[in-house]
Formats: sequence, C-alpha cells, structure tokens
Amino acid sequence: MKKADIIIVGGGVMGSSTAFALRKNGFEGNILVFEKDPTYEYSSTSRSAGGFRQLYSTSINIQLSRFSLEVYKNFTEDMAIDGDKAEIDFKQRGYLFLATDRMIAAYEKQLKLQNSLGVPSEILSTSDLLNIIPELETGDLAGGLFCKEDGYLDPYSVMQAYRKNAQHLEVDYVTAEVSTLLTEGRKMRGVQLIDGSIYTAPVVINCAGAWGAALSGEIGLPLPVVPLKRQMYVFDSTKRLEKMLPLTIDPTGVYFRHEMDRVVAGFSDDVTPGIDFNWKRSSFDHLWPILAHRIPNFENLKLESGWAGLYDHNTVDQNAIIGEHPQMKGYYVALGFSGHGMQQAPGVGLGLAELICKGRYETLDLSPLRVERFAENDLVLEDAIV
Ligand SMILES: Cc1cc2nc3c(=O)[nH]c(=O)nc-3n(C[C@H](O)[C@H](O)[C@H](O)COP(=O)(O)OP(=O)(O)OC[C@H]3O[C@@H](n4cnc5c(N)ncnc54)[C@H](O)[C@@H]3O)c2cc1C
Repeated sequence: MKKADIIIVGGGVMGSSTAFALRKNGFEGNILVFEKDPTYEYSSTSRSAGGFRQLYSTSINIQLSRFSLEVYKNFTEDMAIDGDKAEIDFKQRGYLFLATDRMIAAYEKQLKLQNSLGVPSEILSTSDLLNIIPELETGDLAGGLFCKEDGYLDPYSVMQAYRKNAQHLEVDYVTAEVSTLLTEGRKMRGVQLIDGSIYTAPVVINCAGAWGAALSGEIGLPLPVVPLKRQMYVFDSTKRLEKMLPLTIDPTGVYFRHEMDRVVAGFSDDVTPGIDFNWKRSSFDHLWPILAHRIPNFENLKLESGWAGLYDHNTVDQNAIIGEHPQMKGYYVALGFSGHGMQQAPGVGLGLAELICKGRYETLDLSPLRVERFAENDLVLEDAIV
C-alpha cells in the first residue's frame, strides 16, 4: 500500500491544470496523477476542436472563459520552462454564431450579459459578416453574434504544457489505470489500480473525463454524465478563401474553422451514449450540403480525414460539475464539460486548487457548478451549447 496526499484520476487537461494549480497555490504534499494512457490517444483533450469563446448565456460560463482568455493570451511565456516556450497556437480570429431572423433576439439578450461582464461581443449585420467572411452566403441570415477576442487553440499543447509544468513542480504522473475508487464510510480512502495495488489519500479528484462518471457510479455516487461520440472532419476547400475563418457556427449547428490551409468542421449529431471512436466518412454527407450552401467555395471540397472523440456529456444541464461531493468527504470531481472544457480548464484547475487548499473559491466562484445543484434543482441552464 502506498500513500499520497492527493490523488488525481486522469491526466488530461483538467487533471493536469488542477495538479499545476495545486502547486501554484502552495500545496507541498505528495500529488499523484494516474493516467492510463500516456499517449493520450483517446483523451477528449487530444480530440477536441479547440474552440475558445466567451459567447455564453450564463454568467458562470462567461466568467470562466474570460478568466481563461487572460491565461491563454500569456500562456506561451508564462508556462515556459527554462526558456522553452509553451506554444499553443492560440489564434484570436474570433468566434461567430450566425443567426437567422428567428435567432437574433436570443443573441441580443446574450450580448447584454456578455457586455456587462466585460466581453466585447457585438451583433453584426449581414454586411459586417461579409467583411469577416467575404464568401459567406447571407441570404437566409439576419446577422451574427461575434467576439473578436475569441478563436481557437491547440488543445494537446495546452495539456502537455500543464503536465510538464506540474511535473516540473514535482507532481508525479503514474501510467496506470484506476479500477476503483476506495472509500471508508463517507470518507475517501484512495484508489485501487487494475493490477490490484492500492494507493491511499484523503483527497481524490476525479478528472477521468468521459470515463469519470462510471468510476463514481461504482461507489454509489452516480453523476448525470455519459460519454457521447462527436465526429470531426478535415477538408481541403480546393477554392481558397480570401481570409482566415473565425470559428463559425452555422444556424444548423454545423461549425468550421481553419487549420493551417485546411478547414476543420464538426456537428453534434444525435447519437446513443457510449464509448465509440468509430469515425464514419459517410456521416459527412449530412454536413457537406450545409457547408456548400454557406460558403460556395466549399462546393468542390475534398474530405481528407477526420476523427471521433468523446464529450463527457452532462445529460441534465450540459455544464461542468465541479467541487467536493456532498456525500463523500475528500472526493472532488471535475466532469461533465459537455464540449466546452478546453475554454474552462485554467479556471477549473485554479478553482479546485483553491477549494482544496483554502476551503473556498477565491478567484472565481464556481459554486453554481456544484454537485448539489441537481438535488437542489438549481440548474445552470445554458442556451449556447454546441
Ligand atoms: C470532438 C470534440 C470537440 C470538442 N471541441 C471543444 C471546443 O471547441 N472547445 C472546448 O472548450 N472544448 C471542446 N471539447 C471538449 C474538451 O475537449 C473537453 O471538455 C476537455 O478536453 C476535457 O478534458 P478532461 O481532462 O476532463 O478529459 P480527457 O482529456 O479525456 O482526460 C481524461 C483522462 O483520464 C484518463 N482516464 C480515464 N479513466 C481513467 C482511469 N480509470 N485511470 C487512469 N486514467 C484514466 C484518460 O485516459 C484521459 O487521458 C471537445 C471535445 C471533443 C471530443
């Protein structure tokens, strides 16, 4: 039996951001991160679209992204180790929700809240839209909601930088799969690994992404989170666009952005929950007419590749679940990000670190995302879920 002070299950962007923030908050005890796959091949972080936006309808999501914006803007320098910079390719090319007549009033309402929290989002007319995407088909649009500070970044590099910085601050990463969380009455005791070995710790943080709710359910603490397959597609538009694209969301929900000289697109289709990484080329048949209608340059696009990844999808209110579990002392969770975790990882890590080290949130109040909200029916109802 081995001992630690804090165990983190899952070393993706959430686990690594949390480990790093614990050290930054002065936690000097022994921190062990268990990560079953050091290549991160199937982690959601590696398979993310990397979109970054402050365009939400709830204060908590806007504030989390606003906090992350400052972190990501300075990330390359701030996370450098011995002069080795942490490049994350943060492209602030903007984030754009295209709107039909029917949708624009809802975006105007969101805009008011965003602006009141300092986000410089704006409602664009159809002619403004053409300044951003000259080739855009605007005939069926009334305008769009845009934020120029937003854009996209490289999720894998963000996660690796957090991991390397955590390791630099003497957090230990162990390549092993946790088979069970261990409890003693209503207190956390540690974890058991697949090989049977036991590690004890008074604090265990579940950052196991799409696999996390199953671990929690096995100790009688179910969470409303399921793995949900999401597919991404990479294509060559063949006919070049005049300008680089913001991350653009079509009114149908199909989204696209540039990746070097290629375009990456995605869509949240209706699928049965489960662990499924099977990428189907044929699913693109649904996206292609939508893309070709919106940007006629895409009519002759060539689909080159793609991938499938997992959302850790919160089935009740599609938002993160963060904090200590009310029924288990020492058991913390950071799960249920439902497709917007990359833009929340810096604030989530810091929030958990403050909660554990100081007993309260100091920088950002993440309590709206607490586990108890489901029992209290105090949900975080976000309109801008992609
Ligand atoms: C296709 C797609 C597009 C997305 N687009 C965006 C976007 O545009 N913007 C955005 O903000 N977010 C986006 N997301 C969501 C974002 O990627 C996730 O919210 C975020 O990466 C979650 O990070 P995580 O660390 O919680 O999970 P993960 O990255 O999955 O990390 C969890 C880790 O836990 C490990 N693990 C699991 N079980 C165990 C165990 N029992 N023992 C040991 N290790 C274990 C796994 O191997 C994994 O590495 C997208 C996700 C997908 C799939």
